[in-house]
Amino acid sequence: MYYNDDTVIFLDGNFVKAAEAKTDLYSQSLHYGYGVFEGIRAYQTVNGVKIFKAHEHYERLKSSASLIGIPFDYSPEELTQITYQVLAKNNQANAYIRPLVFCAPNMSLTAPSKVSLMIATWEWGKYLGDQLLKVCVSSYQRPNPRSVKVEAKACGHYVNSILATTEAKQRGFDEGLMLDMEGFVAEGPGANFFYEKDGVLYTPPRGSILPGITRQTVLEICAELDLRVEEKKFKPEDFFEADSAFFCGTAAEVIGIESIEGQKFVKPWKESLGAIIQEAYRCLVMDKSYSYVIV
Ligand code: PMP
Repeated sequence: MYYNDDTVIFLDGNFVKAAEAKTDLYSQSLHYGYGVFEGIRAYQTVNGVKIFKAHEHYERLKSSASLIGIPFDYSPEELTQITYQVLAKNNQANAYIRPLVFCAPNMSLTAPSKVSLMIATWEWGKYLGDQLLKVCVSSYQRPNPRSVKVEAKACGHYVNSILATTEAKQRGFDEGLMLDMEGFVAEGPGANFFYEKDGVLYTPPRGSILPGITRQTVLEICAELDLRVEEKKFKPEDFFEADSAFFCGTAAEVIGIESIEGQKFVKPWKESLGAIIQEAYRCLVMDKSYSYVIV
């Protein structure tokens, strides 16, 4: 359950009980998926409760809204401050944070002039667990970048993600890996993808992916630790002989992949570059130095 009778959320300028909050059933977001959201995490760090990369997440929320024409004027600073208040009111330190910008009642297909904002928080374990994942190649492609704004974290895009994850689970896998419309690897339904081959990490470039904040953090960790990483297009057959692979995202953090379509990666996860990055990421979100993580 995401809330109980005492849980407080932020809704349009007020802190209200989640169980008592009301919304309009004629919202354009409910009917057409025309809304934007974020997924953020807060951690109990050595320096107190810290929201990891709050500014970057709220910049992306604003950019998602602007990309699809939803008016939204809160600043990242205001949003961050409100979020710390929601966490404090719920006495939460290690929490997942879900801001959602949703539209006023409007049954026509035109952009709204009025929107609502809610920010909810709850305690949530790692989204994909902490066991190595068995992944399949999804039969669902990521949306054509000419049919939607791929870089917007828009509610409706997640129908595609739900289809892919549901299919993967029905086939007995933990998660699916989705290709773009040309058959190049794009990303997971809720996480970005990296693989390791001969000491180099590869990840798909921007274009058909959500530019993940965790993906960006991984690139920064690689720069810091002098690990070679390349953004390039590749197909699934290019990594079937690879050493290791992982997904990364705010909810999932950094999680290793055991196999894709039953084909196991060569290196034990503990010896992979992904394991080093996983440890460095853990340190970073906890506000700890990770310079000791030597390659
Ligand atoms: N791709 C998709 C489709 C996602 O939903 C997410 C989660 N927001 C990601 C990648 C990872 O993004 P981030 O690291 O910013 O959470």
